Amino acid sequence: MNRIPILNLVRQYEYMKEDIDLAIKKCLEHQNWILGPEIYELEKRMSEYLGIKHGIGVSSGTDALVLSLRALAIKLRGREYFDRDDEILTTPFTFTATGDAILRAGATPVFLDIDPVTFNIDPQKIKEYLSSNNPGSKSQVIGVIPVHLYGQACDMDEIMTIARLHKLFVIEDLAQAIGAKWNGNHLGSFGVSGGVSFFPSKNLGGFGDGGMVVTNDPEINELVRMLLKHGGKDKYNVDHIGYNARLDTIQAAVVLSKLKYLDEFNQRRGKIAEKYSQALKGIDELTLPFPPPARSAYHVYHQYTIKTKRRDALQDYLKQKGISTMVYYPVPLHKMGVFQGRMKISGNLIRAEQASSEVLSLPIEPLQREDETNFIISKIREFFL
Ligand SMILES: *Cc1c(COP(=O)(O)O)cnc(C)c1O
Repeated sequence: MNRIPILNLVRQYEYMKEDIDLAIKKCLEHQNWILGPEIYELEKRMSEYLGIKHGIGVSSGTDALVLSLRALAIKLRGREYFDRDDEILTTPFTFTATGDAILRAGATPVFLDIDPVTFNIDPQKIKEYLSSNNPGSKSQVIGVIPVHLYGQACDMDEIMTIARLHKLFVIEDLAQAIGAKWNGNHLGSFGVSGGVSFFPSKNLGGFGDGGMVVTNDPEINELVRMLLKHGGKDKYNVDHIGYNARLDTIQAAVVLSKLKYLDEFNQRRGKIAEKYSQALKGIDELTLPFPPPARSAYHVYHQYTIKTKRRDALQDYLKQKGISTMVYYPVPLHKMGVFQGRMKISGNLIRAEQASSEVLSLPIEPLQREDETNFIISKIREFFL
């Protein structure tokens, strides 16, 4: 058996080669590299696919979050940035960018513990934090950024109910969850906006960095479109402190040609996940991903993540057998230098810390062959049994 990577982008390219090559060739011919026609086509197709009014191509998933937040500061406060008294609730068990975007928008991230079963922010912890908040205090919770980790939806019923009650905005981080649903609706359609990532390893990856803001709010749409090109409707006469954060035409062309494979690939991921779950159940030392209740959530398995106290030994063992695995994420955000003195935490974050030391993501390449999946399963069983 050859080495099994966690993801095989070469294999994916070969599968879609004709579409992608043709799309890139068109770009080479029109030479319209900045905000070319593929950008607007992708924005249109993505917003149709997700059932959301506006999609705005941006330079990365991180910038999708930063621009969403900046646009909200302008819309809600009439100010360029939030300030340190503005608190935004999120999970510490995510990629750095989620927390970092909050800092870059001027606000304070408040890290709340996760549900150990789904690995997503625990709505109960949101309620507890809001009820513990001293009404006389200067700082004020203004929003929540739920992260749909590993492709699994957060409990959007609970989160939206709490948000409405306390008048909080919700920005969904759906970098890992494009195509995933909650109660039949695409993620990204619940909050005031959502951040999509086209980072190459994501479920809809380009050939470099890229992302998209999705929103039903016409004002956010307009503000994000200004901010991504220096802060003005006219880039030679600007109104806001902006960025150069456009999506590249060539990335849009690649993503556009991969979009037609997205549902098929997400289904393939689901089949592999099902196979893992069938074959690995009943191993005492192993916790498998929570199979979402069928009606509420459609999981797109960006990662298939297991949990075990012997994580490092298992990872070494699989590596010796030629099987790549990854730890997402080894350090929770509240332990990182960048957040020291700039964050708040509520109670302890013991479940997030425990997850960091126990999780392991297995290869889940949509085009992974049956014999490869079987080999991975047999080596994991061999390790434990
Ligand atoms: C990948 C990722 C991001 C950032 O996306 P980029 O396109 O890499 O900037 C943000 N949040 C989460 C949860 C991610 O996985």
